[in-house]
Amino acid sequence: MNVRTLKKNFSHEEIAKLSEEILALKEEKNAVILAHYYQELEIQDVGDIVGDSLGLSQAARDVEDADFIVFAGVHFMAETAKILNPTKTVLIPNVNAGCPMASQCSPDIIQAAREKHGSDVPVVVYVNTTAETKAAADVTCTSSNAPIVVKNLGVKKVLFGPDRNLGLYVQKQLPDVEVIPVPEDGHCIVHKRFSVTAIEAIKEQYPDAVLIAHPECNEDVQDIADLVGSTSSLRRFGRETKAKVIIVATEKGLVDRLNKDNPEKKFILAKDTAICRNMKRINIENLKDSLLHEQHEIIIPKEINDKAEKAILRMFELT
Ligand code: SF4
Repeated sequence: MNVRTLKKNFSHEEIAKLSEEILALKEEKNAVILAHYYQELEIQDVGDIVGDSLGLSQAARDVEDADFIVFAGVHFMAETAKILNPTKTVLIPNVNAGCPMASQCSPDIIQAAREKHGSDVPVVVYVNTTAETKAAADVTCTSSNAPIVVKNLGVKKVLFGPDRNLGLYVQKQLPDVEVIPVPEDGHCIVHKRFSVTAIEAIKEQYPDAVLIAHPECNEDVQDIADLVGSTSSLRRFGRETKAKVIIVATEKGLVDRLNKDNPEKKFILAKDTAICRNMKRINIENLKDSLLHEQHEIIIPKEINDKAEKAILRMFELT
């Protein structure tokens, strides 16, 4: 099934009507909508806070007065919101919005790596993991803070997962630390799609274009990028750069955001199939339904929640 068959298309009129209903329901239910940059623009536009994984984790932690947090993102993100703010009711509009990368690293894989490399080697996991996997780790990280988390652990060796490319990015910045991938080849199926060949073809057409890339991209793509950084840092670069044409190697939602926010520049998605179909399982209609029917609630067993929270709070302490 490709993204086109999953994605429901809405007319401008439908979007306007559903957006209005969402804004009214938000008031009525005293809810906050957190939306990831990889969401469609109409969803970002009704979000109270739009951000990347780190920004949204911090936002979720800081929600005080609202009764509901509705998370327009994939399942692990909504779980992170629940872990950090367990007394709130956290809803996800579509329970099937998973993340294939998060599915690649189970607690058993972490346990096996600990047994192989020794229990004194800390385990750092990307926030793109399930609550159970976070609970099995020592500390989490995001693409914004991965190098600083590993550096501040002050150790010579870490187990790092699930994204191998993010691990390589950390390894390059910290050559004195051995970064061991767990599992061996964890990856994001969307960011794996970018290739040097396709980027060079775009550069032939736009010789002055600069390239910005997310660290989930393959190493050869990172190597030719003018900037490798988290979703937020790519957004900042897009705003501040003097370049007029910017090739972007990350999910399409951010490219749409950049083009909307910076109309005087041209942002080109480095591969037109770089669309996360899981992110697109959230749409303006199921977002409204989630608010209306107060569905689908994220529930995490307390023991898992407490351990996962410890790993996330350690990340905040280290950064
Ligand atoms: S873009 Fe990649 S890492 Fe992010 S949710 Fe989609 S599959 Fe997971």
